[in-house]
This record gives sequence, C-alpha cells and structure tokens, in this order.
Amino acid sequence: MATARLILLLTVAAAAAGSCCFCSAQEVIVGGVGEQLATAPPAAPAPSPPPPPPYCGSVRTAVEAHNIIGWKTVPADCAEYVSDYLTGERYGRDSDVVINEAIAYAESLKLSGHGKEIWVFDVDETALSTLPYQAKHGYGTKPYDHASFVQYVAGGSAPALQGTLRLYRRLLQLGIKPVFLTDRTEDQRAVTTHNLLSQGYCSWEKLLLQPVGLQTTTQAFKTGERQKLVSAGYVIVGNIGDQWSDILGSPEGYRTFKYPNPIYYVA
Ligand SMILES: [Mg+2]
Repeated sequence: MATARLILLLTVAAAAAGSCCFCSAQEVIVGGVGEQLATAPPAAPAPSPPPPPPYCGSVRTAVEAHNIIGWKTVPADCAEYVSDYLTGERYGRDSDVVINEAIAYAESLKLSGHGKEIWVFDVDETALSTLPYQAKHGYGTKPYDHASFVQYVAGGSAPALQGTLRLYRRLLQLGIKPVFLTDRTEDQRAVTTHNLLSQGYCSWEKLLLQPVGLQTTTQAFKTGERQKLVSAGYVIVGNIGDQWSDILGSPEGYRTFKYPNPIYYVA
C-alpha cells in the first residue's frame, strides 16, 4: 500500500509539473508554493494611428465651396479622413441632401408639355462611382494616373450612386429627359453605355462624350455642349455634377446641383 501511495504522489507531482506548459503567458510563478504570485506586465498594445488632422474637414468644405481650386491631390495626412468620409455614412448623407433638394425642385416645375425639358447629368462621381478604383489609389492622395483610370473605366463595372439613380428615376416619372454629359471620350462610348445600362440608367435623350484628343478644358467642352442643346431647342431645367466645371459656364441650366467629391479636381 505504501508503494502504491508513493507512485500516486509521484504521478500527481509529474502532472502538476507538466501543467506549467498551459500557464498563461502573463502568469509566472516565482518562489515556492504559498509565496508571491507575480503578474508580468501586459504586452504593450500596438500604437493606434494618429487621428486625422483637424483641418481635413475644413479643407473638404473649402473644396466643395470652390474656395480651393486647381488642386492636384488630397493632403497625404488627410487620407484616412477622406477614406472614412467616403466609406462611412457622411458621404451618403451629404449626397442625399443634394438629391432631395434636386427632386423637390424638379417636382415643383411646371413643364411645357413639349418634351423638351432636359436634365444634364455628369457621369463619374455623379451617375457612377469610381470609389472601387479610388480605394486602391489612395483616395486622391496620389497624383492622377490616366492609364490606370482608363483601365478601370474600361472594365465597365463602376457602381451607380444610388442617390443620383433615385433622382434619375423621379425625373423620368415627371417627364424630364436625362442627358449625360461627360469628359469621358468617344472611344469609351460603348463601355459607358453598357455601364450605365447595367446600373439601372435605362434610357436617355443623349449621351455626350468628348472627342478624342480635344484640347480644351472640361468646363469649356461642357459649356459648349450645353449651348448646342439650348440652340437645338432643349430647355435645361437642371444640371448636376461633382465638379464645378460641370455646372459653371452659361448656359448652366435653370438650377445646378453640386454633388460631393473630396478626392479630385477637374478644371
Ligand atoms: Mg464627374
């Protein structure tokens, strides 16, 4: 019996020794049983990135108000701010304010009944979003790269901006015809048509694109195209775009609406 007790004690001791392997990494037994149980200091947490500089929101407001013009890139230390703005709720809320105002205005119009009232839509960052591309290219913090942007457009997968689609559908119900006017070029007509259709823009009066190689600003091109529309008898009751170059220059349209865009500037 004494031998059996000794074996049992040895077995328990061995098991206790083996159990040390399962101790928490932060608990280390120092000294013998009954002595102090010390706790090692916890590992320092990974440092969190610094918050965006407080001026990023002010810069965005100044950009939207056209107080800052001709800028090339978003300040590098505002990348996180712009990313949060675009992928969080704020961008959608800001956009909805614009769209709701545009719809209320359109619903207030007394149409002629002649079917000549049109609404001009820009395409990129107004009807369609290039956010999937922007997310891979620094949200505007990197200089514009024409080749990679054209490659993205050629994929024809740009998603619709849902607020603009809501406006578009309401205008169709009201009898106001949509016209898309974009600085995309004529060689992108097929993919742009496909992209718009696939995203729910089912019909339009015209899709106007820039001639390839045109040497002018977007604002000058769009102003000229709107003048042609007016000369052809159309009445531009509304005009919406994410750039000031979409909505500046007579004839602008009876009312213009600036869609938010904090990531790039087009003159
Ligand atoms: Mg645009």
